[in-house]
Amino acid sequence: MTHPTDGSCIFCKIVAGQIPCFKLLEDETTIAFMDINPVNPGHALSVAKGHWPTVDVIPPDVLASVARTAQRVAKAVIGELKPIGVNLLQANGTGAGQSVPHLHIHVMPRREGDGVRLNWDYKPGDMAEIEAIYKRLKAAL
Ligand code: AMP
Ligand code: ZN
Repeated sequence: MTHPTDGSCIFCKIVAGQIPCFKLLEDETTIAFMDINPVNPGHALSVAKGHWPTVDVIPPDVLASVARTAQRVAKAVIGELKPIGVNLLQANGTGAGQSVPHLHIHVMPRREGDGVRLNWDYKPGDMAEIEAIYKRLKAAL
């Protein structure tokens, strides 16, 4: 199967075997490997083999495959490393903290007091504002 590639993309180079990785698994459309800047031990990535930067441009079936691979990795992380929790995180755009513009889902094991800034406190929203935005989004689907 052929995938779109970008010669300057680090994940495309990993997919092509031009850069080494600690490969956990691979199937026709996805690859999973260890993150080399782990937020906690066991931090891994589920990556589309093809070069699609973000969730709005990747084909839905490929995104589903990336999610399936992330689930397999998460099950191994949970079963083997027994973290206190696991976050699956997928960033789109530099404003969301995306540093590699090639779609991937982080599998991030959590540890007590790890200081990873992914969690937030509940703050009740303005219902009128929620409803107004809801209407815009519903019309855009
Ligand atoms: P993001 O910031 O969501 O785009 O995540 C990109 C992730 O890729 C970061 O957590 C990096 O540590 C990781 N990363 C970058 N280069 C490599 C590499 N060569 N091998 C493994 N992970 C990498
Ligand atoms: Zn790429």
